[in-house]
Amino acid sequence: MRMELHILGTSSARPTRKRQVSGSLIQCDEGIIVVDAGEGFQTRYADQRKRLKTHDNVNTLRASRIHAVCFTHGHLDHTWGLLPWMHSMALDKRETPLLIFGPTSSEVFDALIAGESIPDSAPSAELARQIKGWQELGGTSESLGYPIRWILGDVAANRWLEIDSNGVSTPINAMPQPERWKKYRIQPLATHHTVPSCAWMLESKGDVGKFNRLKAAELRLSNEQKAQLSAGNDIIMEDGTSLKSQDFRGQERPATRMVISGDTSEMSKGITSLSGIDVLVHEATFLKDAQKWADEFLHSTSTGAARTALACHARHLVLTHFSARIKDATVTLSEAKQILESSSSSASAAVDGDRIQISESGSISHLVWTGDGWLS
Ligand SMILES: [Zn+2]
Ligand SMILES: [Zn+2]
Repeated sequence: MRMELHILGTSSARPTRKRQVSGSLIQCDEGIIVVDAGEGFQTRYADQRKRLKTHDNVNTLRASRIHAVCFTHGHLDHTWGLLPWMHSMALDKRETPLLIFGPTSSEVFDALIAGESIPDSAPSAELARQIKGWQELGGTSESLGYPIRWILGDVAANRWLEIDSNGVSTPINAMPQPERWKKYRIQPLATHHTVPSCAWMLESKGDVGKFNRLKAAELRLSNEQKAQLSAGNDIIMEDGTSLKSQDFRGQERPATRMVISGDTSEMSKGITSLSGIDVLVHEATFLKDAQKWADEFLHSTSTGAARTALACHARHLVLTHFSARIKDATVTLSEAKQILESSSSSASAAVDGDRIQISESGSISHLVWTGDGWLS
């Protein structure tokens, strides 16, 4: 498996009887990232682990493998579950370092690095305010006993700062990646919402295919010949036969990209500037007849999510973050599918507990949680 996403909340703004607020995990070989952690996150996370144990007999979502939490924005339905869960991980004697990322505005960024307080004009849901509060409530390495780094980004300008346990902000060169990650990268993509926001992309680097050393050894090639073939050059042997570089390469593996939009109006530039996403999980708070509300509150409709998927050439679109008015996401899905009709993009609508997998060969499956196992 190249990546597996677990969607633990598909409701917007507040929990409903069937849907909880935002929270997801993306798992890859090198670790796990959490994207948003709304109210009750730790309970949903524990439930998902139990389901995996019961139905698949796997223990793939261990907390020690979670290296980063990536917030899409500061609205509480996306953030309020973090601190209680951090406390539980301390009780479980966590040792693994935890990186916590989120977007802020350039105005707040400037104030923080100048050592000033958060400007009054910043919204109440500003992440810098929440970080300050959480640190005061014990959200520090010193209190919890495992290394924690709080990092805010002015995403559009690619400027980053770190807030230490004393509340002091220092600019840092770049957004750090989890220690020891080599093949996978976490990247923010600028989006457009009523507060500073971004989408998060997990990308695995492509692979040119491994050089076949065994074959080269069998042919008794010299180091020089191996270097030529490995560098992509064909060579002529002494007996006049030629060896093609491509015959010495394993299967090429393209980059894999999974993107989670967070809350945003449609066609946000950070997402549409990409060409080629394997799985785009996009909010679709409203049905298409509520376009006016989507525009007013800077959210997306079913059709807006689909237009965004077309613009970034997403292979598969997953709809999520449904307004409490939407009782049945099949309507949302059919609206989105109409937009995607003449494209090669597919689409599905998420239910809490669903898993989206991208296999080694690149195929995508959406496993739907039924309450008693997953159906693909
Ligand atoms: Zn939301
Ligand atoms: Zn929001």
